Amino acid sequence: MTTALITHADCLNHVTPDGHPERVARLEHVLHALEGLALKRVTGPMAAEDDILRIHPASYLADLRNAVPQDGRVQLDADTYMSPGSLDAAFRAAGAVVRAVDMVLSGEVQNAFAAVRPPGHHAETDTAMGFCLFGNAALAAKHALDHHGLARVAVVDFDVHHGNGTQDLLWDEPRALFISSQQMPLWPGSGRPEEDGAHGQILNLPLPPGSGGVQMKAAYVDQAFPRLRAFKPEMIIISAGFDAHQDDPLAELAWSTEDFRWLSRELCSLAQELCGGRIVSTLEGGYDLNALAASAKAHAEELIEAGT
Ligand SMILES: [Zn+2]
Repeated sequence: MTTALITHADCLNHVTPDGHPERVARLEHVLHALEGLALKRVTGPMAAEDDILRIHPASYLADLRNAVPQDGRVQLDADTYMSPGSLDAAFRAAGAVVRAVDMVLSGEVQNAFAAVRPPGHHAETDTAMGFCLFGNAALAAKHALDHHGLARVAVVDFDVHHGNGTQDLLWDEPRALFISSQQMPLWPGSGRPEEDGAHGQILNLPLPPGSGGVQMKAAYVDQAFPRLRAFKPEMIIISAGFDAHQDDPLAELAWSTEDFRWLSRELCSLAQELCGGRIVSTLEGGYDLNALAASAKAHAEELIEAGT
């Protein structure tokens, strides 16, 4: 068994304005950091339109297609832009998570990391938001449930921002447990404990600004891990954002690279205990290039260790 690294050069053709934190260099730094690791390197496919339509309405897809500029950029909301290559990048990002699910569930690999952009966890049902166009993590969950027929899937989102899009897309999905830790207060403002889904299947874990590894570990050990054990997922999907790092410029949590390693290792261990080690992880945020690269490398090393 092994770990797949799924990406595509198209993900580098989503070009945001100068000074925008979600930039091409992020993925370049992540991929550079993963060079030399024992990963099965896979070129990600485009998602099929039917894949996207599992989570977004056709009208939203048509709106995005109509918005793609011939050159330059268009602005979809305060933070979210499209360049001529953005829609293809989004289709590659979504395609990568679909492929990751297929590879893990077929037993071709133990686990998989989709190193892609644009990220996905802020995209709501019919709204691009927060650098995100398609809800990649929710799509991975729906693909595992609806296409592969799994009965239960868990999504764990440790990005520093609340996964409002994943929450929106999975709000009424009793087969998906969604667990999200986030700094609060912080944009987008959602992610309170009382937001618990239509079936009580969403667990939000707000963390106060300044909190570090001690608080993070307590939240996961005391709340997240027991919920995962009780839910008994058949696969764990990770929204892997690395912007809770103490060096990140967009937030005020104080996790270290080793905290990301610890959390990654614990999630691998739980996957081993609960679902044969099946994990699909997808890149979300992380805006200090060095912290992002080091943390993503630690994450990938733990996936590799678990897959060996
Ligand atoms: Zn984030």
